[in-house]
Amino acid sequence: MDIIQLLPDHVANQIAAGEVVQRPASVVKELLENAIDAGASQIKLIIKDAGKTLVQVIDDGAGMSVTDARLCFERHATSKIKSAEDLFQLHTKGFRGEALASIAAIAHVELRTKTENAEVGTSIKMEGSEVISQEVVATPKGTSIAVKNLFYNIPARRNFLKSNPVETRHIIDEFHRVALAHPSVGFVMLNNGAEVFHLPISSLRQRIVHVFGAKTNEKLVPVQETTEIVSISGFVLKPEFAKKSRGEQYFFVNDRFIKSGYLHHSVLSAFEGLLRDSAQPGYFLFLKVDPKTIDINIHPTKTEVKFEDEHALYAMLRSSVKHSLGQFSVAPVLDFERDKNLDTPYEHQKKSPNMPNIEVDRNFNPFQEEGRQQKNIHFPFQREKTPSWESLYSGLEKEHKVTFSDSETQLDTMEFESEELTGFLFNEEDSKAITFQLHTKYILTPIKNAFLVIHQQLAHERILYEELLRNITVKEAVSQQLLFPLELGFSKKEVVLLEEYKEQLQDTGFVFESFSKELITISGIPVNVNDSEIKAILDQLISDLQNELPDAGYSQNDLMVKSMAKSLAIKTGTPLTKDQQEHLVNSLFACKEPSVSPTNRATFVTIPLGDLDRKFV
Ligand code: ADP
Ligand code: MG
Repeated sequence: MDIIQLLPDHVANQIAAGEVVQRPASVVKELLENAIDAGASQIKLIIKDAGKTLVQVIDDGAGMSVTDARLCFERHATSKIKSAEDLFQLHTKGFRGEALASIAAIAHVELRTKTENAEVGTSIKMEGSEVISQEVVATPKGTSIAVKNLFYNIPARRNFLKSNPVETRHIIDEFHRVALAHPSVGFVMLNNGAEVFHLPISSLRQRIVHVFGAKTNEKLVPVQETTEIVSISGFVLKPEFAKKSRGEQYFFVNDRFIKSGYLHHSVLSAFEGLLRDSAQPGYFLFLKVDPKTIDINIHPTKTEVKFEDEHALYAMLRSSVKHSLGQFSVAPVLDFERDKNLDTPYEHQKKSPNMPNIEVDRNFNPFQEEGRQQKNIHFPFQREKTPSWESLYSGLEKEHKVTFSDSETQLDTMEFESEELTGFLFNEEDSKAITFQLHTKYILTPIKNAFLVIHQQLAHERILYEELLRNITVKEAVSQQLLFPLELGFSKKEVVLLEEYKEQLQDTGFVFESFSKELITISGIPVNVNDSEIKAILDQLISDLQNELPDAGYSQNDLMVKSMAKSLAIKTGTPLTKDQQEHLVNSLFACKEPSVSPTNRATFVTIPLGDLDRKFV
């Protein structure tokens, strides 16, 4: 009796999907790449619920004919290669003809597309590999593909997905990779209705800066070299900006993002002698090689590439990076055409919280009419280095000193920055803020014709939130080295969760020595934080991450920083000295949004004297 059967298409597709679509980010990658292959000049990515509910990509590329629109969901249906030979001439991202078939097998898909010359477009709805409707529609040239309810028919897969912040981070990673590879294409990304990236068509330098922030501009050292077998271009980050953790490390081969330990090693060796121990160089390097000489067919998700002449490539990459670094240290100004367009600040997030109706005139100084003098603001709760600690330190030799003095300079600049930000609200001795603490909960302070009632805990949350967010955004957090590393016990699951946030935590100043099954060893912690508080902070973070605070918004950083601000803030019930009260008030009004806490509660209320007066008539 014969027992072998051919699998029905939808089953075969579902199996194939297991390889192609691991998570929402895989859908993002496939759709973005299709849009690029279609020659789009503007691409919009729309995400809802970390892609679990919706991933949509809209492009203004070539579009599809009616027949193609129907065919594109068939397995091995592709317009990109026709014969085996074409595999060696690849100029497109896709070539397998598998992505749309796979996606349509495990999600609800809505396609709308129109070619330039067609009068009308086509709309097709798919569910579990079945066409459920096909219509003629009016739609602009290009293609929109909406992928809804991913894994709706594979509950195990759906349950396997990570929390929204983690999945969102994967999506953003894919988005970055495609956006960096194609600066000549404009990108917009919307996450839960908020625009998180708006990347206009630009040069590579501008694109990098738009993605990673204005501060990146000065860090870029151009690399440019053309040889017979490869042309190399792009940027490396100046060695002094190398990070402990792998930060921005991007290789693109023929505009395709790839991972290569071998090429990474080549760049690393070019930096030899320029980096401190275990620091990681940053780079955005584009390699162009003859498509004949590479084989990208070796991995289904296609981030690994086999090169024909790896050794030569290694040597050339190394020498051109070395050359650029050398040139740069001889003549630092040489290659740096400054681009004014880049002076826009990095928009960390565009979420605008609902502001209560409180107007604050930040230039208004209720305590002093004239003779403004600046005073350096030291935040009162910052842990002071005790003299004994410092004297312990001064005995240590150079190697340690390096990291220390480094963070010292950063500390200086930070203070300088906060000094700039700080208004002239409360100044020198003679005009000290008058403050009173009430019920170890509120700080009262009189201003002209009114007084403020400040909620000490919420105010402090706001201050810490902005400070941490600033550190994490500029990635220059200062950390204090612990003399004795902390060993903290967690459950396995918690360790995994924290490890996922490792990079973000490092950006706030944590230094991790190791993550083992149920133990985390920490050798550095953010300044402002007491080592006795660390466990509580991490516990709080774990619980917030697991519950995903109700209005967590999209940003992982945001969630984490909110959680940390909450843990670190001085609590109701804490008595504060006059100095601490004054500093709290000062620091609050140095904030960008002093009037609301990170969780959108008012931090203070203004009570006009008139209101009091009226009570006495
Ligand atoms: P591949 O990209 O490997 O060819 P896909 O399943 O991703 O396979 O896509 C199948 C085909 O559908 C593509 O070859 C292309 O012809 C067409 N297609 C997919 N996305 C788009 C798009 N955004 N614009 C135009 N055509 C598209
Ligand atoms: Mg494709």
